[in-house]
Amino acid sequence: MNLYNIKHPTEQVSFAQAVRQGLGKDQGLFFPETIPHLNNIDELLALPLVERSQKILGALIGDEIPTDKLNAMIENAFTFPAPVAKVADNIYALELFHGPTLAFKDFGGRFMAQALATVRGDGKITILTATSGDTGAAVAHAFYGLENIEVVILYPKGKISPLQEKLFCTLGGNIRTVAINADFDACQALVKQAFDDETLRQTIGLNSANSINISRLLAQVCYYFEAAAQLTAEQRQNLVVSVPSGNFGNLTAGLIAKTLGLPIKRFIASTNANDTVPRYLQTGEWQPHATVATLSNAMDVSRPNNWPRVEELFKRNGWSLSDLGSGALNDAQTETALKAQYAQGYLCEPHGAIAYQVLSEQLQAGETGLFLCTAHPAKFKESVERILDIELPLPEALDKHNKLPLLSDEMEADFVALRAYLLK
Ligand SMILES: *Cc1c(COP(=O)(O)O)cnc(C)c1O
Repeated sequence: MNLYNIKHPTEQVSFAQAVRQGLGKDQGLFFPETIPHLNNIDELLALPLVERSQKILGALIGDEIPTDKLNAMIENAFTFPAPVAKVADNIYALELFHGPTLAFKDFGGRFMAQALATVRGDGKITILTATSGDTGAAVAHAFYGLENIEVVILYPKGKISPLQEKLFCTLGGNIRTVAINADFDACQALVKQAFDDETLRQTIGLNSANSINISRLLAQVCYYFEAAAQLTAEQRQNLVVSVPSGNFGNLTAGLIAKTLGLPIKRFIASTNANDTVPRYLQTGEWQPHATVATLSNAMDVSRPNNWPRVEELFKRNGWSLSDLGSGALNDAQTETALKAQYAQGYLCEPHGAIAYQVLSEQLQAGETGLFLCTAHPAKFKESVERILDIELPLPEALDKHNKLPLLSDEMEADFVALRAYLLK
């Protein structure tokens, strides 16, 4: 597999290099030079998840990784199901929260860890990533206990749910977590600064594991196929998919699935009040506002770092951005949507509720709607219990960590301090 840097197309790398490096020159994102068109979609859809994913990722990545190695990586990563549930007439939920940290980021995180363990050279590796909630948990759990790989995770102090924090800040071992006194965008800026620091990068073998690493996106392609596999051929004919979006990695993966030939009629990018993309699609002007805190905090991102990949795909495929649906909900509307779903017999959480609501408002006659449920309701226990006036039992995976003490360090949004910390 050959990839190029979207900012500097002459910088070209292999899959292994892209996985190790994360970002290219000037923080440019790597993107596959070619995406094959698969002609055997129906055959693929008839296969079980792991076997189908081995074929899809084999086609994407090519012979750079021996088939038996790649197959083992996928088997180790995809150890849990992604069921589709019916929510309303013509509307289905793809539940991506049955992994070890109860969020969709387990798919990308676990495959990324496997990929890195496979393609790593000699020497130390330090994973540095910023999280607005769930990436942190998925990365921490995916890498926990892997030899010679250090993990450092930055997150905005007080801006993620206490349970989310417990899930990844209680591991210890090769996982260090840092609460930054600032918002998520500031954490992300610190990570970018670290990657720009050549000396630091070399010394500690810096590697990013957030949604910018291409291996994460490739893994996520597989669950769009899994969703289609659980629908009937008729439902697949006019399939509209609503993606709750923050950094837009999830949507990018869906667009790659469509490029591969998966029949998806159109996508809808659903956001919270951090609505840079919906406004851009309406006005043509890219005008990020300051990030605001919302109920769906894993989507509190006003400068989505995967957006250049979305535009690249539209350009390369000759698609028009006017075909990309979008919608944004504020917190009051999110609460209303969550209640409506619950009344319909489906228990969701704020991120999935946004995707559901925007979808149901935009779905047309004859279309089948699918929205992505990116987290287990219990991961947003406080809000869900308050909004629905119910009590949610903690799933075992969360309960276990909830009882452990937090091991995080605390820091200002100060690069000099972070640098010293990383070199320690
Ligand atoms: C990360 C996350 C999102 C946003 O996904 P992107 O790929 O960043 O757009 C949505 N919901 C939840 C629960 C998340 O953790």
